[in-house]
Amino acid sequence: MRNEIRPISIGNVTISPDHIAVIAGPCAIESRDQIFRISKHVTRGGADLIRGGAYKPRTNPDAFQGLGEEGLRHIFDAGRELDVPVVTEVMSEHQIRQIIDTAEGHPFMFQVGSRNAQNYSLLRSVGQTGVPVLLKNGKGSTVSEMLGAARYVTSGGSPVIMCERGIVTFDSGDPAKGAGRFTPNLLAILRFQEEGFITLFDPSHSAGRSDHVVQLALSGVAIGASGIIVEVHDRPCEALCDANQAIDFAQFDKLMHQARAIEKTIRGSAGE
Ligand code: PEP
Ligand code: MN
Repeated sequence: MRNEIRPISIGNVTISPDHIAVIAGPCAIESRDQIFRISKHVTRGGADLIRGGAYKPRTNPDAFQGLGEEGLRHIFDAGRELDVPVVTEVMSEHQIRQIIDTAEGHPFMFQVGSRNAQNYSLLRSVGQTGVPVLLKNGKGSTVSEMLGAARYVTSGGSPVIMCERGIVTFDSGDPAKGAGRFTPNLLAILRFQEEGFITLFDPSHSAGRSDHVVQLALSGVAIGASGIIVEVHDRPCEALCDANQAIDFAQFDKLMHQARAIEKTIRGSAGE
């Protein structure tokens, strides 16, 4: 039996099955100017929320780890100036308080990334804040495991939005040789929805290369995701994190245009 999908509000933005929500911004907040520049472009182009990591889960400990609290201040200032909610990743219980304090009441959503999809104490703790949580699937998680992870959050009272970002398969890993960095598990979107979760699609971490991101994003829209979260950079080749998959402003504009056209075709509305 299908569970009813309840809309979730973050400030004045409501994410619901009736409209494609767009979350856009850089992988990592790199400077005040960078997050302001990118946020201005994507919100002008119709993004509903801005994204950017201040704490980055990097495979290599010598890689850029994010600006931490300074980065949080920059993205929340951008959110305030542009009157748009923020999405930012939390990696530890200690960071929960830092993010809430830096937000100073500005609406936001925690992102729990793929590496923490099985961090049950973090899931439980973010679930007790009442702040909405964007929960990304673990790269090796099954749908059932993710439904369990989601319950850790909702049992504390916070609403959850699921995000499909791809899984490891025999053909994932190197997007130049195989098919994608992670294989998009598009049917998981339909399963999460069937279980009553608003579900977004992340084409960036799945594609792993910018020239595939727009088309892949559109397939998520076409299958019926309630939105997309996409990495955008004004100078993708200079990005300090996930440079290969960052789309530039022109690609973002094209994506918005085509996503709205598909939305209109499949839902019979412009989504405005
Ligand atoms: C990200 O959103 O930049 C990120 C690290 O995502 P994921 O957890 O899906 O790898
Ligand atoms: Mn990233």
